Amino acid sequence: MPQDLPDVPTQLSIGGVWRDGSAGETIDVIDPATEAVIARVASASVGDGHAALDAADAAFADWAARTPRDRGEVLRKAFTLMIDDRERLARIMTLENGKALSDSRVEITYAAEFFRWYAEEAVRNIGEVMHSPTTDARILVHHKPAGIAVLVTPWNFPTAMGTRKIGPALAAGCPVIVKPASETPLSMLALMPILEEAGLPPGVVNVIPTRHPGPVVDSLLDDMRVRVLSFTGSTGVGRTLLKAAARNIVNPSMELGGNAPFIVCHDADIDAAVDGAMLAKMRNIGEACTAANRILVDARVHDAFANKLTDRMAALAMGNGLDKGVAVGALVSSRARETVHAFVTDALAKGATLRTGGTIPPGSGFFYPPTVLTDVPDTADCIHGEIFGPVAVLQSFADEDEAIAKANATDQGLTAYLYTQDLKRGLTLSERLAFGMVGLNRGIVSDPAAPFGGVKQSGIGREGGHEGLMEFLETQYIAVSW
Ligand code: NAD
Repeated sequence: MPQDLPDVPTQLSIGGVWRDGSAGETIDVIDPATEAVIARVASASVGDGHAALDAADAAFADWAARTPRDRGEVLRKAFTLMIDDRERLARIMTLENGKALSDSRVEITYAAEFFRWYAEEAVRNIGEVMHSPTTDARILVHHKPAGIAVLVTPWNFPTAMGTRKIGPALAAGCPVIVKPASETPLSMLALMPILEEAGLPPGVVNVIPTRHPGPVVDSLLDDMRVRVLSFTGSTGVGRTLLKAAARNIVNPSMELGGNAPFIVCHDADIDAAVDGAMLAKMRNIGEACTAANRILVDARVHDAFANKLTDRMAALAMGNGLDKGVAVGALVSSRARETVHAFVTDALAKGATLRTGGTIPPGSGFFYPPTVLTDVPDTADCIHGEIFGPVAVLQSFADEDEAIAKANATDQGLTAYLYTQDLKRGLTLSERLAFGMVGLNRGIVSDPAAPFGGVKQSGIGREGGHEGLMEFLETQYIAVSW
C-alpha cells in the first residue's frame, strides 16, 4: 500500500469495535489518479448489518436520554477535532476520490460545519402548546427521536454527505448505521476515531462499507427497529429504496440527482456570472448534484460570456489532486469518465461546437479535461442526463419565457442558478423556477444552515437547517385537560 495514505481504519465499525466482515470479504479502494489499490476495506455481510443494528439498538435508549446539550457538546467537539485534522482528512479524501486537495479541504470544512450547526440545533427541539379551538383541551406538541436511522451516502462528497445526516440524527437522539459508497469508504471510517474522541458512546454510529449494498440495506429495512432511511445518491437507486422502505413504512429522506440550469440574463454582471459558473460547474470537478448542467445564456450576451468562460476553463490545471496548484483532479472511476465522454461525443455528433477540451488524455488516471460546448441542441443527451463531470454545456435563449421553459424542462428539480443585476427580475424568475434551491447571483447554494433539497424526482425532505433536524424527529401530540 502506498506511503502517502495517512493512517486510517479499514475495518467495519460496529458497536465501537473494529472488526472484519464475517464473510471475510474486502473492497479494493482505488486512487483514481494512479489507478493503484490504496487500501482493502472490510465488506459487511447481511449478518454484519444486523450486528450493527443490534449495536445501534443497544445504544439508543441511553443516547436518546442524554440532554440535548450533552449531545450538542459531542457534536461541537467533533467539529473542532475535524477542523484540527483537516489536512489529514483531506488527503485521505483526495486519495480515494481523486478530487483536488483544494476541493477536499473545502469539503472537510463544509462537512465539519454540519456538526457545528447541529450542535446548536440539538437544543432547539421546540414544541408548542395551543388551545383546542372547540374543546377545553390543550394541544401539546413535542418531538421525540424517530428511532434507528440507516444512512446511505455517495462517493462524490464522501464526508459531507455523511455528516449532513449524522449531525442531525445525533442531535435528535437517533443512533445510525452508515453505509458509505464502496468507492470512498475511508473518509467515513476516518471519522469514527474523531467521534469517539469527541465522547460518542459505542454503537451510536456504526459504519459498514459493503460490496453488497442492495441485500444489506434491504435486509436492514425489513427490521421494524429501523425508522428512518436517509439516502443521497442517484434517482434510480432512490426509487428502489423507496419501494423497500414502503414495506415497513420507514420514513424516507431522499437527496437524489439534479440537472441544474444556470441562467445568465442580458443584464447580468458577466464577470460575476463567469465566476459563478466556474464554481457551479467546476466545484468537485462537476461531480456534484448541484453542478450547473445546462448554462442558458441570453443571446445578446452569449458570445461574450462563452469566450470568457472558455478562457477560464482552458486555464485550469489538471493533474494528480495531491499535487500543488492542481484544480482539476481525476474523476472517480473509469466508468464515470466514460459516461462524461459519451455525453460530449453525443453532443458533438448532434451539432454542438467544441470550444475546449473533449479529449481523454493518455496515461493512467481517470482524468477528463475541462470542456466547453456551445450550440448544444435540445436533443443532446447532456441536456436531459446528469453530466457529473467538467463539461460546460451552453445554450442561448431569446427571452425570459424561453429561459424559464428550458430551465424547467426536466424531471429533476434540485438547484437552479440565475444571474441578473435587476433584483425584481431575479426574484420574479426565481419564483418561476421549479427547483428546491435557487442561487441568485451566487454559484453555490450549499450551506449547513439552509434547507437543502429538491422537488420532483430530485428527492423528498430537506437536509441542513432546522428542517434537517426534523427528518430525525417524530411529532407527538398529547391532548390534555388541565
Ligand atoms: P448511487 O445511487 O449509485 O450510490 C449511492 C449510494 O447507494 C452508494 O453508497 C451505493 O453503494 C448505494 N447503493 C447502490 N445501490 C444500492 C441498493 N440497491 N441498495 C442500497 N444502496 C445502494 O449514486 P452515486 O453514483 O454514488 O452518486 C451519484 C449520485 O448521487 C448522482 O445522481 C448525484 O446527483 C447524487 N447526489 C445527490 C445529492 C443530493 O443532495 N441531492 C448529493 C450528492 C450526490
